[in-house]
Amino acid sequence: MFKGTNASAGIGIGKAAIIKEVEMVIRPDKVASVETEVTRFRGALADTVAQTKALADDLATKVGEKEAEIMNGHLMLLADPMLTGEIEEAIKRESVCSEYAIETTCSTYADVFAAMDDELMQQRATDMRDIKTRMQQVLQGIKPVDIASLPEGSIIVAKDLTPSMTAGINPANVTGIVTELGGKTSHSAILARALEIPAVVAVSNVMDKIEEGDSIVLDGGEGIVIVKPTEAEMNEYTAKRDQFLQEKKDLERFKGVPTVTKDGVHIELVANIGNPDDLAKVLEYDGEGVGLFRTEFLFMDRTSMPTEEEQFEAYKKVAEGLSGKPVIIRTLDIGGDKEIPYMGLAKDENPFLGYRAIRLCLDRKEDIYRPQLRALLRASAFGGIKIMIPMITCIDEIREAKALIEDIKNELDRKDIPYNKNIQIGIMVETAAASLMADVFAKEVDFFSIGTNDLTQYTMSVDRGNDKISYLYSTFNPAVLRSIRNIIKCGREAGIMVGMCGEAASDPLMIPLLLAFGLNEFSMSASAILKSRKMITGYSSEELQAVADEAMSFVTAKEVESYMKEFVNKK
Ligand code: PEP
Ligand code: MG
Repeated sequence: MFKGTNASAGIGIGKAAIIKEVEMVIRPDKVASVETEVTRFRGALADTVAQTKALADDLATKVGEKEAEIMNGHLMLLADPMLTGEIEEAIKRESVCSEYAIETTCSTYADVFAAMDDELMQQRATDMRDIKTRMQQVLQGIKPVDIASLPEGSIIVAKDLTPSMTAGINPANVTGIVTELGGKTSHSAILARALEIPAVVAVSNVMDKIEEGDSIVLDGGEGIVIVKPTEAEMNEYTAKRDQFLQEKKDLERFKGVPTVTKDGVHIELVANIGNPDDLAKVLEYDGEGVGLFRTEFLFMDRTSMPTEEEQFEAYKKVAEGLSGKPVIIRTLDIGGDKEIPYMGLAKDENPFLGYRAIRLCLDRKEDIYRPQLRALLRASAFGGIKIMIPMITCIDEIREAKALIEDIKNELDRKDIPYNKNIQIGIMVETAAASLMADVFAKEVDFFSIGTNDLTQYTMSVDRGNDKISYLYSTFNPAVLRSIRNIIKCGREAGIMVGMCGEAASDPLMIPLLLAFGLNEFSMSASAILKSRKMITGYSSEELQAVADEAMSFVTAKEVESYMKEFVNKK
């Protein structure tokens, strides 16, 4: 049994189909005429563009526009005059063949991207290498690996799946994906999830461990791969697969059902999104709105800041797409560990305690915050937009932000530009300071949304991304639970809505506790909505009070968690 990263949930059972790129030897061969060589390069470029366009169209019909965006990103790279110009320059300067000029130019860019401390930029490196290989393959007349015609029941095993390979997959025939490289947020993992193919990535040296045709079982939710399973293992995983598929089917009946507990408490079950294209999944899984739009994604993966107009269009699209339902849009949460090269931010010594989110925005009102807030206010005329401010630690910050919003409202009034005059302003409660002062903040804002990802990190003083100390990172720690309970209590006493948009909101062991504490709104990834609705409608918040009291009597995270596990499994 091998362990890897769980990239796409589900059980895959099938035969290994090893995917290996044909090795290309790229040498600095000299050419007789650079003009002829440049023409040869341009021809290959045009063919690669045509091939990529076909993949994008195929993906758009097979999975959706959002997924096709990955291929459109490749098209943008191929159309970048700086990149193609540099390749032509290298051919002319060194009188070398196109393959070599492509190799050196694209690799230089890819290495720069790969060295950046940002997953999105590292993904750019994969994209750059992907287009490099495809241009070279076209030049050498090598056909790309034909993933589209794999036989039924294939489990793809590869070193890494490039986005263009993933795009060619026929989901009817591929029952699983195993790769040696990649991460949870790599494009191939995202595509695997969109295609709903179970996938385990980052399995070390897997290419040496599996042979063509080997029988394989994988659990994409647990990140487990079993090669040549025993009969008992095969039976176990076949049962698990059937159960997984059955559960998925069962959840369909929770579409269109109101999220009300057995004793009649209405809960808002909403989604976390990162850009307007995520809306499709929110609607597919019957989300009741958006509880967190992480706007930093609009700023990432590009070379300059999105304009006010671009932002306005994005916010308006979400507001309109949800026809008046609540859409909580969080203002920019960037800085610290989330780097945006074009913003020219210095590296912080302690990124998570540093120049981040509201701190940065209030410091850069004119070029960053004012355009974003103006875009949000203008878009509020088109739907249920609420503004949410992240990383708040003191009252002055929220007062300063509110004053800026008032200022922009006055400006819009003067110019007769429509906006929602009663737009709600809320905060993320995700720092220890905001939690301790929740009673005061509750009088200052219209709603709270608890960000447990950061609240856990700041309460436990544990870096949320550090594997070595991850044993301390638990939202079940009584310190974090007391904090959550206090925030909800303060919000309720002040009569404001209290939601949660951290990962804990969709944790099946946490949901009963949150209901007992009185949480009004649960925001999560769209795919978790139906399962959470099934849970919420099965409980009465009153019956859960005793459970919560008992859970809060324990003094360690482990005790609380195992108590909740026992309770939920018994149910
Ligand atoms: C959180 O901190 O819980 C949260 C939802 O925000 P992010 O994960 O974007 O920091
Ligand atoms: Mg946060």
